Amino acid sequence: MSRQVVTRFAPSPTGMLHIGGVRTALFCWLFARKHGGRFILRVEDTDLSRSTDDNIRIIEEGMAWCGLDWDEGPVMGDPTRWKGPHGPYRQMQRMDLYRTKIQELLDKGLAYRCRCSREILDERRKAVEAAGKVFQYNRGLDAGKGCASANHDASQPAAIRFRMPVDGDIVVPDLIKGETRFPADSLDDWIIARTGEGPGDIGVPTYNFCVVVDDTHMEVTHVIRGDDHLNNTPKQIPLFAAFGYDLPAFAHVPMILGADGAKLSKRHGATSITEYQAMGLLPSAVRLALARLSWTPKIDGKAVETAEEELLTDEQMIQLFDLADCQKSAARFDMDKLQWLNQKLIQRASWQELEPHLRPFMPAGWTGKPEGWKAQAIQATQKGKSLTDMAEALRFAFERPAAFDDKAVEKFMTPAVKPALQEVSQLADYTHEGLEAAFAGILERHDLKTKDLAQALRVALCGKPVSPGIFDTLMLVGRAEVVARLERWL
Ligand code: GLU
Repeated sequence: MSRQVVTRFAPSPTGMLHIGGVRTALFCWLFARKHGGRFILRVEDTDLSRSTDDNIRIIEEGMAWCGLDWDEGPVMGDPTRWKGPHGPYRQMQRMDLYRTKIQELLDKGLAYRCRCSREILDERRKAVEAAGKVFQYNRGLDAGKGCASANHDASQPAAIRFRMPVDGDIVVPDLIKGETRFPADSLDDWIIARTGEGPGDIGVPTYNFCVVVDDTHMEVTHVIRGDDHLNNTPKQIPLFAAFGYDLPAFAHVPMILGADGAKLSKRHGATSITEYQAMGLLPSAVRLALARLSWTPKIDGKAVETAEEELLTDEQMIQLFDLADCQKSAARFDMDKLQWLNQKLIQRASWQELEPHLRPFMPAGWTGKPEGWKAQAIQATQKGKSLTDMAEALRFAFERPAAFDDKAVEKFMTPAVKPALQEVSQLADYTHEGLEAAFAGILERHDLKTKDLAQALRVALCGKPVSPGIFDTLMLVGRAEVVARLERWL
């Protein structure tokens, strides 16, 4: 019976959550969801100088905001708890397991203690290089000289090396990149634990080792990660075999580049998911834009083409997602496309869907507003490009104008419009139909066009001649406040 699909996202909490990482997490998530599998969040916090709890929190919050829920991993905001049977999901809390696994390899002769000092290694490197070869700490090239064969001083602390294959190629099969071959003699017997404190000690396990222990222990079936890790894979593959674990499938996802073709970095603008959140983007737009960066979804074997087809829902993405449709080479990030998707998804969403995303951008008064009011506010501003645009467009409903646009005052606050404003200030029926009927009468009595009155009202209520539809504007400000704001113009 085939195993249940298990993917994992394994960020190192050494800084903000980069959108490249989010895209990798998204692919892991889509793949797990598509195959009814499990998605694990595992924190690789062995870089003690740079890993912080705060960065872990930022990762958890970024993932949660992006809708990438994990089935196993840390419990959000609580470093002491986790969910899932393979925890803890922070590598620093898994040291005992790593040491047990290292001991197992030592006992089986699949790893060995290496007491070569840096000086000895340097000396041998020079000798090998003088003979025109590349120095590798490897029994094949360096036969008889390493700790694997010699009896070194057992009273000294030692690092531990993994016995790599000596002959042939190590083949990395990859669902995106195809097959890559690495000649075995280009790879060291690499260090799996750094030099311990005393003789017999097992020092701090190294990164590549922990990854494989975790992937086997967590029963990962598909390792989907950035292609900056492709060169680690040939080191890791023999270790899976040493643990007697079926090799997981690998999928190395290409890097994300900026518009100029260089690796996406701060100088291109926002790179952290927190910044995207602050820009007023919907998580669904970010998901879609990131997925589409290096994946061409196919419907009935045909690449999606029309704008409508591009606006895939999560369900469609999950259904269509296929690593075979991901491109091998790096993709350029397209901010305009993300903003276009965002606008389209904002327009398409119901007010109930938008409300929780808009809420963080709204003033405190938002929460207490009745549902009908919120629905109207959202529907009246749903043309905005972003949630921040919508929030900005709704500011008038919470604040009196701090200043008035002089030009607009001059243009729209004409003597002819004042008696009409006077009438508006006396209206009592603030339903859409009520306002519509009343306006018809007012316009006729004062021989005004809709625009004349609407713009004058906008200036009085919002300080500038820009706001949602005039009836929405009046209703959102509310009768008492409309009266108060009109007073100075009458
Ligand atoms: N911790 C690694 C990183 O943040 C990921 C390792 C992996 O996915 O195997 O790049």
